[in-house]
This record gives sequence, structure tokens and C-alpha cells, in this order.
Amino acid sequence: MPTIVVAMRSDTIKGRSIRPRSRRPKQYASNRVCAQEGCDTLISRYNAKDFCHGHAPKRYPRVRGRIMESAEA
Ligand SMILES: [Zn+2]
Repeated sequence: MPTIVVAMRSDTIKGRSIRPRSRRPKQYASNRVCAQEGCDTLISRYNAKDFCHGHAPKRYPRVRGRIMESAEA
């Protein structure tokens, strides 16, 4: 079976046509707002996070699953 090398370094990969068509972006509920209290920023439905860009916890580098486990205010 073909091995797909995932190169995340840049977008300058030749042969973009073979770009693996991975699962399409998951869609989340629309019209969600930031989970931060008092923030009404709309969250994109493609955004898996519960916070807007301004409130997104930056210290959690892609933890699969539970991100809110130890969210600190
Ligand atoms: Zn926010």
C-alpha cells in the first residue's frame, strides 16, 4: 500500500494533486460563541475549540480529546 508522507512543513510540495484527501473538516454546531464568560465572539463551525482566537488556550498543543481537562481561568 502506498505510504503517504505527511509533510507539514510548507505548502510547497510538488504534485499537489496527490494531496491526501483526508476526512473533511468536521463541522460543529454553528452559531456557537466563545466559552469565555462575557465574550460573544462567534466561533467558526470548523473550529473545534470552544474559545475564540483571543481566548483559546494556547498552552495545549493538540491534545487529542479532552482539552478542557485542566483549563485554567
Ligand atoms: Zn472569546
